[in-house]
Amino acid sequence: MELGFLGLGIMGKAMAKNLLQNGFKVTIWNRTLSKCEELVEYGASIGDTPAAVVKKCKYTIAMLSDPSAALSVVLDKDGVLEQMCSGKGYIDMSTVDADTSTKISEVISKKGGYFLEAPVSGSKKPAEDGQLVILAAGEKSLYDEIIPAFNVLGKKSFFLGEVGNGAKMKLVVNMIMGSMINAFSEGLVLSDRSGLSQQTLLEVLELGAVATPMFKMKGPAMIQNNYAPAFPLKHQQKDMRLALALGDENAVSMPVAAAANEAFKKARNMGFGDHDFSAVYETVKSLGDSK
Ligand code: NAP
Repeated sequence: MELGFLGLGIMGKAMAKNLLQNGFKVTIWNRTLSKCEELVEYGASIGDTPAAVVKKCKYTIAMLSDPSAALSVVLDKDGVLEQMCSGKGYIDMSTVDADTSTKISEVISKKGGYFLEAPVSGSKKPAEDGQLVILAAGEKSLYDEIIPAFNVLGKKSFFLGEVGNGAKMKLVVNMIMGSMINAFSEGLVLSDRSGLSQQTLLEVLELGAVATPMFKMKGPAMIQNNYAPAFPLKHQQKDMRLALALGDENAVSMPVAAAANEAFKKARNMGFGDHDFSAVYETVKSLGDSK
């Protein structure tokens, strides 16, 4: 199967590489074109623009940072829409809100194309290992056709119905995750300030009902102040913002998520936007300091 792939950030690069290593022919494009070079070694072809990629490929996947990037790659000059036509499929795996996804779906269908949103749960390592969880919604026939690629990228795919449901599911998941990492950070600070070993706290957590792969994976690095980005904090804050907007729309009060969002905003303000989202721990530590 020949695929286009737009966006070679932390996730996109790992996903495109995986597809190449599993026998797919992949034509790639990235705004910063130099990031394409590494994948050429794995057999990728480069498209000069999103339009050129769509022209060449029946199916094009996108993995972009946020709603404005997702819209710009479709709508701007040399964008996806210029070459979209009947029989082509566009699969946006970026995390965006339902409105953005719906807008993209509408313009793609107007040109006769098919659209699927398919945000993913899982970070850099699951992307490298083909262990993502794919939350798809939109055109069911496109979902069925693209399943061979999803089977390489993920350990499980869900088809959630109409466009918007994938985006919403992803935002709910990341809203929970963002709140959890804040509670975890507070626990690390509290254990330290009250004279306990953080390492022992990690061991205790691991053995109880609140054990989670996230605490196990992030905890040891956090207590060493190591925030090498797997999931950039600026994207986690974007997801909290979009999840809170979804809460607004549905009159759902989310004080815990709102507080977590404030901590992520402060972390961005402190210069941690490009660090891993676990760097929110620095904010929590600094709030403790100011007491
Ligand atoms: P990233 O490393 O920051 O990569 C972002 C990508 O978007 C890059 O290819 C970047 O191009 C491109 N981009 C940004 N603004 C653009 C614009 N205006 N026009 C065209 N391209 C633009 O982010 P990531 O971690 O791969 O995440 C990608 C998406 O997956 C996000 O929606 C994120 O929320 C979601 N996600 C991430 C993770 C994770 O753990 N990292 C997990 C699940 C979901 P340049 O290279 O030119 O900057």
